[in-house]
Amino acid sequence: MVPVIALVGRPNVGKSTLFNRLTKSRDAIVADVAGLTRDRQYGEAVWQGQPYIVVDTGGLTGDEHGIDTIMAGQSLQAIEEADAVLFLVDARSGRTAGDEMIAEHLRKRDKHVFLIANKLDGADQDSIIGEFAALGLGQPIGIAAAHGRNINPMLQAVLGEGNIETEERDENGEIIERLQVEPIGTKIAVIGRPNVGKSTLVNRMLGEDRVVVFDQAGTTRDSIYIPYERHDKPYTLIDTAGVRRRGKVFEAIEKFSVIKTLQAIQDANVVIFVVDARDGIVEQDLHLLGFVLEAGRALVIAINKWDGMDQSEKEYVKTELQRRLIFTQFADQHFISALHGSGVGLLYKSVDQAFESAMTKIPTKRMTEILEAAVAEHQPPMVNGRRIKMRYAHLGGSNPPIIVIHGNQLDAVPRSYTRYLENVFRKVLKLAGTPIRVEYKSGD
Ligand code: GDP
Ligand code: GDP
Repeated sequence: MVPVIALVGRPNVGKSTLFNRLTKSRDAIVADVAGLTRDRQYGEAVWQGQPYIVVDTGGLTGDEHGIDTIMAGQSLQAIEEADAVLFLVDARSGRTAGDEMIAEHLRKRDKHVFLIANKLDGADQDSIIGEFAALGLGQPIGIAAAHGRNINPMLQAVLGEGNIETEERDENGEIIERLQVEPIGTKIAVIGRPNVGKSTLVNRMLGEDRVVVFDQAGTTRDSIYIPYERHDKPYTLIDTAGVRRRGKVFEAIEKFSVIKTLQAIQDANVVIFVVDARDGIVEQDLHLLGFVLEAGRALVIAINKWDGMDQSEKEYVKTELQRRLIFTQFADQHFISALHGSGVGLLYKSVDQAFESAMTKIPTKRMTEILEAAVAEHQPPMVNGRRIKMRYAHLGGSNPPIIVIHGNQLDAVPRSYTRYLENVFRKVLKLAGTPIRVEYKSGD
């Protein structure tokens, strides 16, 4: 399970600076995709090979009128859903009344809270410790987010083995056992904005003939994992929209949860992204798709509520989709009605194909042959009078497939040439429904 850490604190303590620092390694991928802006509040990050999700809760000032006001916000939902809370304070300005109110609130929650004193660069370390320890949340960890100081030891304290637990606990604090029910098969996450028809689609997908649903397996957070078989093939559906089972607190507040969606994306092999044909592609769709791309998951797009649209509306929606979803060209699109069931069976065909493509295994010899043919067809450009040299390729990972190319001066490969190679590999290997990544390992 991908851990979630929430950044909490007064305005100006450095939450977004820390957020950017933790998630920045991923920015390049999204920046490449025209039309996508990053959702400032949620980000995917990696520490020592382990992905995790960072949430910048933004809004807490500590002066909210009564706890109810705070409770109503997304900030609180994020705290509730997080595995660990990083409570940031400003080492330069010292402890404030706002810090104390937030601390009081956090002490009451049953959460792992790490007290982080930011802006260590402008403060005296010894005095900070005493001052902030008085918040009753343990010794502060000093960092300077703006300068990248002490970030790694902080992450070690938070994400290091055994430091936080991602298990779910019941009301008595007992760990809820996750039964592992075989077969797992292709893990499919059905995601999308609220009300696009996810629950209706999940019911359809499971309600189809010849689907055998097993006893419910591990339930984590709000998502429900449903293993089943269809035509003797194993699948697990990750249902982000299903029955609410969690604490009453935010159950009533909001059914849709970004964190849950991000975790489902991380955990899935294939994402079925549901769009409401009547709304077209809106900003929030692009944000969510951005996360799917960042995670490199295989993707199938379901344009739902296709029933009851007249011909001219259909034409219009199709044109709009071509325009706005240009960056997901690798993904199949299906026009469906989850309500009536039309087009739903065909989704499986795309899901299976995307899964196979995403998990493909190709020997180095074959990869290198493809590379050589591609280079012979269209040479990489000259850099400083020397030609970029590509020697061999191997498959460095799956879901998404990572094509690792070895050679010289590869730092200088232009983006357009990388795209060319991507397309060649995609075509020759018949990879459909999955993004591909190209990485370079330069010998000089
Ligand atoms: P947020 O409101 O909590 O998200 O705070 P920001 O991340 O916007 O930071 C507020 C201000 O503090 C900005 O001017 C940052 O440049 C500054 N800041 C953030 N981290 C540090 C740090 O480590 N040292 C110093 N000196 N300033 C910092
Ligand atoms: P979720 O929030 O994404 O899980 O969306 P729901 O499955 O709860 O559906 C939201 C609303 O859209 C409900 O009223 C559904 O009956 C309706 N709906 C779902 N799929 C379709 C469809 O294919 N066609 C039409 N006309 N309505 C649909």
